[in-house]
Parts: sequence; C-alpha cells; structure tokens
Amino acid sequence: MANVNATSGKARRAEVAGGGFAGLTAAIALRQAGWDVRLHEKGPELRAFGAGIYLWYNGLRVLEGLGALDEVLEGSHTPPTYETWMHNKSVSKETFNGLPWRIMTRRHLHNALVNRAHAVGVEIRTGSEAVAAEADGKLTLQTGEVLEADLIVGADGVGSKVRDSLGFKQDRWISTDGIIRLIVPRMKKELGHGEWDNTIDMWNHWPRVQRILYSPCNKDELYLGLMAPAADPRGSAVPIDLEVWVEMFPFLEPCLIEAAKLKTARYDKYETTKLDSWTRGKVALVGDAAHAMCPALAQGAGCSMVNAFSLSQDLAENSSVEDALTAWEQRIRPITDRCQAISGDYAANRSLSKGNMFTPAALEAARYDPLRRVFSWPQ
Ligand SMILES: Cc1cc2nc3c(=O)[nH]c(=O)nc-3n(C[C@H](O)[C@H](O)[C@H](O)COP(=O)(O)OP(=O)(O)OC[C@H]3O[C@@H](n4cnc5c(N)ncnc54)[C@H](O)[C@@H]3O)c2cc1C
Repeated sequence: MANVNATSGKARRAEVAGGGFAGLTAAIALRQAGWDVRLHEKGPELRAFGAGIYLWYNGLRVLEGLGALDEVLEGSHTPPTYETWMHNKSVSKETFNGLPWRIMTRRHLHNALVNRAHAVGVEIRTGSEAVAAEADGKLTLQTGEVLEADLIVGADGVGSKVRDSLGFKQDRWISTDGIIRLIVPRMKKELGHGEWDNTIDMWNHWPRVQRILYSPCNKDELYLGLMAPAADPRGSAVPIDLEVWVEMFPFLEPCLIEAAKLKTARYDKYETTKLDSWTRGKVALVGDAAHAMCPALAQGAGCSMVNAFSLSQDLAENSSVEDALTAWEQRIRPITDRCQAISGDYAANRSLSKGNMFTPAALEAARYDPLRRVFSWPQ
C-alpha cells in the first residue's frame, strides 16, 4: 500500500503549511487517499482573503474529485458570455465552446473547502506558523516545535517561508498595473437596461488606463476588479476615488458608490514567482509558493488546485515519496509554466483589451481535467 509508512506500518503522515486554496486542496486529497494530514494556518482562523474568483473546468474538476463541487455550484454563477468592451463599446463576446467556468466569492469557495477538510478528517491547527522545512521531512513551527512526517507540503503563499528556508533558486517580479478587488451588491435594477448577468471586461486606454472587470458571483453579490497602473495615484487610491471611476464608467455609478464605502479596500500589484524546482526531497511546494502568476487568465488558484490534487495521485502511484514528487513535477508543471508565461505576457501588454484573446493556448490549463488527465470536457 503506497499510503502506508514502510517502517511503522501506519498510515503515512503529511504536514501541510498554509490554509488557502492550495493547502486545503492538498490536505483533502491526501486525506481522501488515506494519509494522516495536519494543516497549519498561521492566522487565528481559516479564512479567505480577497473578493471574487473565477474557476474554470480544471478547478471545477478538482472540486468534483474532492467532493466539494455541489456546495460550490450552489451560490455561484456562470455568466451567459464573457464580454470585452473598449471605451464602452463591445468588441467581443466569448462562450469558450461550452467549456465550463464559474464565478464565486472567495469566501464561498474557501468555506466549501474548509467544510470538506473537516468532513474527511483533516486535523487543522490555526495560529500555527511554519518557519522552515528540511528535505528529509521536517517542519519547524514558529514555536520551535519540529514535526517529522513522510511529506511536507509548502502551501504558504507567495511569501512562503517553507520555500525560502530551503534555498530554491527563484525569479520574482511585480507588475506595473494593479487592482482593487471588491464585493458589492448586484444592483441589477439600479443599473438599468443591459446584459448585467455577463462578465464584462471594460477597458479604457484613453485619457487614462482604467479597467473594470465586472463579475457577477450570484444573485446578490457582484465582484468588481478596478485596475489601474500603480503610477496613477488616483486610479490606485483606496478607498476608491469615486470621481475618477464614475467619470470613466458612469453607467456603473450605483455600484461604484457602494465600492467607495469600503474602507478596507486594498490596491494589489501582481507578483510572479518562478522556481528552479518545486520539490526538495520530501518537501513539495504548491500554489503561489511555487508559481504565483499574473491574473490575466484567472488561473493562479485553478493551477494551484490542480497541482495540489495531482500530488496525491503521484504519491499513490509511487512507494517512494521522493520519486513521486519528481514524477509529479515532471508531469504537471509544464501546463502551469505555459499558463504563467501567457498570463504574464497578457498582463504586461494589456492584451485582453483586444477581445477574443482566449485562444486554445490561453485556455490550455483551463481545459485540463486532472481526474481523466486529458485536455477536454464532455460536450
Ligand atoms: C488580482 C488577482 C486576481 C486573481 N484572480 C484569480 C482568479 O479569478 N482565478 C484564479 O484561479 N486565481 C486567481 N488569482 C490567483 C489566486 O488568488 C492565487 O493563485 C491563489 O489564491 C493561491 O492560493 P495559495 O493557497 O497558494 O496561497 P494563499 O491564498 O496566499 O494562501 C496561503 C495561506 O497560507 C497561510 N500562511 C502564510 N504563511 C504561512 C506560514 N508560514 N505558516 C502557515 N500558514 C501560512 C496564509 O495565511 C494563507 O491562508 C488572482 C490573483 C490576483 C492577485
């Protein structure tokens, strides 16, 4: 049995650092495969950060594999089309040939994963910060406690201490554009006539670069992404500068008034991280710890979840953890690398503003089914 420790004869143990989408996915998948799993979250509670999120077929299939899909589908939304506007005129409407995709609040997705982690028996420690790992399977906590395990998963986000303690070679860079992400009430009636159930990616290049990604999450909640260059003090101001946003997007005024009331809003730039390797001995890095990417293709979490889920598959197929991790990275990483490259290029060149940019190559990661290990979906 691949999930039993050869020396102790007991179930193999995994220590997972980080309770975001990647860490929760890894923990649930390993637990479902028969591992004893403990997840460490440095925050005082498990909770989602950020506003809304797009999941594509790849992420939805992971949720199916985890047994969390039904809970996520309830209370999330698939828009009829993904529309792109330039200077308030529609330039494209895409339906991705029926490829499944979904928008939801981050809280909704996170809650479903936390509920599933509890249901399958993942042990969760909050207020538990990982500070270092060793390749032979040790995880050191901030308290000084050292835990030994068959597998350590570093899912502690873009600032990963697990990663940095192991000295991976890394390239990291930050974008020139950034975004303010908010959840506001839907207010369809107040917006008046329009196809307000669509995703609408509204771009303006002149007189200033400003973009709003309008994303309905469900019947009550709307996710707004307000993008502006970091060099623009008014576009990047938080709480949002109502005047500067209403001037460019007057038809969204009712929603923008609500957005301006949110005093805790943040302006975030996009970080990219590229490592020489995602593994070191018995340590695997998943999620933003391994491959933070620009959000142009909305695939950071999707790829994170696929990679975290796929890890449990390679571990089930190899009795050596080290061999499994090597096989896993070779098998799954190229999809993420290609997605990260296109997403970075699109973000740097603001390519999505042209419309019709969801080419087959751009949708490659989205089309991947980690359960059947093919790039297609039932039509
Ligand atoms: C503007 C923007 C929009 C995006 N939109 C999308 C989208 O629509 N679709 C999509 O798929 N992706 C999207 N992404 C990417 C996505 O948000 C990330 O890729 C994803 O959240 C990464 O998940 P994670 O679990 O790896 O990291 P995180 O979400 O950062 O989670 C890490 C967790 O670990 C905890 N932690 C940190 N350090 C420690 C430690 N030392 N010990 C223990 N715990 C620790 C943190 O508190 C946190 O809970 C977007 C990103 C950005 C910036």
